Amino acid sequence: MSETETSAPTTAKAPSPKPWIEAIHAYVPGKSRGKDGRPLIKLSANENPLGTSPAALAAIAQAPALYPDPDSTALRTAIGAAHGIDAARVVMGTGSDELLNLIAQGYAGLGDEVIYVRYGFAVYDIAARRCGAVPVVAPDADYGTDVDALVALVTDRTRVIFVANPNNPTGSYLPGGEIARLHAALPADVVLVIDQAYGEYVAPEDSDGALALAGEHENVLVTRTFSKIFGLAGERIGWATGAPGLIATLNRIRGPFNVSATGQAMALAALNDGAFVEASRIHNRDERARFVEKLEALGNHGLRPLPSQANFVLILFEGALTAETAFDGLADRGYIVRWLPGQGLPQALRITIGKSEDMDAIADGLREMAESAK
Ligand SMILES: *Cc1c(COP(=O)(O)O)cnc(C)c1O
Repeated sequence: MSETETSAPTTAKAPSPKPWIEAIHAYVPGKSRGKDGRPLIKLSANENPLGTSPAALAAIAQAPALYPDPDSTALRTAIGAAHGIDAARVVMGTGSDELLNLIAQGYAGLGDEVIYVRYGFAVYDIAARRCGAVPVVAPDADYGTDVDALVALVTDRTRVIFVANPNNPTGSYLPGGEIARLHAALPADVVLVIDQAYGEYVAPEDSDGALALAGEHENVLVTRTFSKIFGLAGERIGWATGAPGLIATLNRIRGPFNVSATGQAMALAALNDGAFVEASRIHNRDERARFVEKLEALGNHGLRPLPSQANFVLILFEGALTAETAFDGLADRGYIVRWLPGQGLPQALRITIGKSEDMDAIADGLREMAESAK
C-alpha cells in the first residue's frame, strides 16, 4: 500500500474498510535495492544462496498451462511419503502465508485472541487482525520464545497460538521438550500452529517433534514452505499438516486452484532432489558457524550474534556502532540486509547466510565499521 493511499481523506461517501482491517500495517518485504535504487546483493529475505534445484528448473517446461490439479495430489502424495504422513492430512497453500492466514480465519473471529511472541514473524499480526481477532503478544526470553510467557496469556478467548520454530527474525529454536510442554499446557480447543518454514535447516537429530504432535492431536497444525531451502519462493508454495478437522477447515476456505501447475511440478522435482536440499543445509550450517565465529572474534565491540538454527543470524548492536549505521555501511559495500525498526528491533540486523565470499565481506565490513566507531 502506498502512502498516498493510506493518507487519502475518508469522506462519508467513500467505502470504508472494517476498522480492524484499517489497523493493519502491511507486510514489509526484504528489499533488493539500496536507498539510491542501486541493485545490491540481497541478504534480506532468507532466500537460498544456492538458488533453486536444477531438477526443479527443468520441470517447468513439462507443466501444462491449463487449470492445475486443484488438490495438488501428486505433490501431497510425495510430501506424505517423504515425511511419513497420510497425504489426506496435507493441504497445500499459496505459500505457507495463505495457510497461516486461513487457520486464523477458520478458528478466530471478532473479539477472540491470537497469541504469538514479541519478535515473532510479522505475518501473525496481520493474520490475527484480518479476522478481527485481538493480537496478544507474549514477552520474549532474551529474544527467544518463552513457553511460560505464552501459556500465562491463555484465556477462554484464546483461539490460536503461532510459534515459528526456528523463529524469524531471531533464529531461536525451542527443542522438542519445550514444544511438547507448550502443547500439554493448552486447552484442547486452542489451535497450536508450529511454523517450520526453516525446519529443513535444523539438524535431523534436533527435530522439535512438531510433525509427530500434529499427527497425534486434534489441535496442532504444522506449516512448511518451499520458499526457503527449496529456493522456490517465487512460486508461492507451502503446506500444512494436522488432524483431519483442521485440514478440512483449510480446504473449505483456501483458493480452489491455489498452487499453479508450474509450482506443483517444480515443488515435486525439488522434493525429489534430496542432494540439493542436503547441500543447502550443509552450506548454511557451515557458513553460519564460520560467520558467527568471525563476529565473536571481534571481541568487545558490542556486536552480539544470537544463536540461530535458521538460514540467517540476528545481530544485536550493543556498542558504539549502531545497527542503522551498519545497515548503511553494508549497503555502501554492496549488500542489503534487514534492519527491523518496525518490528521493535532498531538495535538489530538480520543477515541471511549467503555465499562464502559474501559472508567474509560482510564480516570484514562489520569489523572495519566497529573498529572505527570506537
Ligand atoms: C519465510 C517464512 C514463511 C514462508 O512464507 P511463504 O508464504 O511460504 O513464502 C513462513 N513463516 C516464516 C516464519 C517465515 O520466515
